[in-house]
Order: sequence, then C-alpha cells, then structure tokens
Amino acid sequence: CGITACIGADDSVESLVDGLRRLEYRGYDSAGIAVKNQSGISLTKRVGEVSELVAAVEKDPISGSFGIGHTRWATHGGVTDGNAHPHTDESGRVAVVHNGIISNYQSLRAELESKGHKFSSETDTEVVPHLIEENLLAGASPEDAFRAAIGSLSGSYAIAAIIGDEHAIYATRSGSPLVLGVGEGEYYLASDVPAFIQHTQQVVYLHDGDFVVTSLDGYSITDSAGRPVDRPVEYIEWDP
Ligand code: GLU
Repeated sequence: CGITACIGADDSVESLVDGLRRLEYRGYDSAGIAVKNQSGISLTKRVGEVSELVAAVEKDPISGSFGIGHTRWATHGGVTDGNAHPHTDESGRVAVVHNGIISNYQSLRAELESKGHKFSSETDTEVVPHLIEENLLAGASPEDAFRAAIGSLSGSYAIAAIIGDEHAIYATRSGSPLVLGVGEGEYYLASDVPAFIQHTQQVVYLHDGDFVVTSLDGYSITDSAGRPVDRPVEYIEWDP
C-alpha cells in the first residue's frame, strides 16, 4: 500500500502513476489517482495492477497540475473498484487517499449518515472526505476543515487530500509513513522516497502529528494546533 501526491507546473498524472509503480514493492490490490483541473476533480481507480490503472487512463485520459495517488491493501471493504482510493464526498469537492486503519470509522460514519451524508463504499477511509466536507459546510477554510477532520480520527494513517478550489495538497500522518519531496517549484508526498527520488533528492521526513500544506509557492509544516514545526530538509544520495 502506498501514497503519492504531487503539485507543480506540469501535468501530474505521469508523476503520480510513476510514483505508484515505484511503490509496488509494498504490495497492493487496487490503484487509483485523482487530479484537479478547471472542471473539478477527475478520478480513475481500478482493482488490479498499476498497469491496469494506466490502461484505463490511456483509454479515458485525465489531466491536472496537481493530484493524489494510491495503491490499496484492503483492510475494510472488499477488493472492488468502488472501494479503491481516492474517495470523495458527495459533492466531489474533496478527494482523499489513506493508508492504514481508522478504528473509530463506524461511529463517525453513523454520525455523518445521521446528518444526511450518503456513503458509496464500504471502507473506513470514506469518513474522511465526508468529515472534511461537513467542516467546509460549517464555514471552515480547507486547511481548518482538514485539521478538524483528522482530529476526530483514531487509528493509524497517512492521508493526503485535495480540497475545494484550493490549489494545494493537504497531508498528515500518524503511525503510517509519509515523506515530503522538495523540488524546484514542485513538491511531492509519498509513503517512501523511491516514489519521487527521480524528481528531487531533497527530502523532509515527517513525524506523527505533522500537518503539511503544499502549494506552488512552497510548503508549511504545522502541528495539530496549527503551530509551525521545524523539520530539516535532507539530501538523499541517488544512483539511477
Ligand atoms: N483501510 C483502508 C482501506 O481498506 C486503507 C488500506 C491501505 O492502507 O491501503 O481501504
């Protein structure tokens, strides 16, 4: 299971898919990507190998200058296209990828359903886009909506999201790996360095509880209360 995300000047589809291929060693049963463009979030996900995702994208191309990708190792919900990530809320304004397990998803899902949210998968993950959407509807900014949604989760997770019209990627981790790649006007997030090492050798190792917001302008790392956190940028040797 693995996560990729990237934001930069060029189309992100190739970087996302290429990153997923480089995380294949981690094992998975499904793969998917979501990218943001003028018309909103475009999403493709498939049971099977990354090559099947690639075939689907070639048949029905999508594009966007930033996005998120995922290889799934199913823990909650069967191995189906519908349970593959990314997951969205009903409005399609929010897309989320997640590695790990959200242990309190049943009570969160029941609460969201009682507020009228309609779920389309059997995963624990799907509570996250709905929680973010709920916070957006209550008037929160995308960053606050993300932080508040994560604050109600128990379990282990690495999560990356695209939210609303914001040209940004939101990510956090607790008990699952996530690293940030710092390029020239482009930024990457992934479960492991090989996903983006061909693009940049500058890496920030995130800690549990770190929140990252990355846009074309740069990135910020904060704690759960929004206070800035200082993490060193490390240079990783790479021999292609
Ligand atoms: N628990 C989530 C699911 O079953 C994520 C699994 C993973 O880490 O890939 O969809």
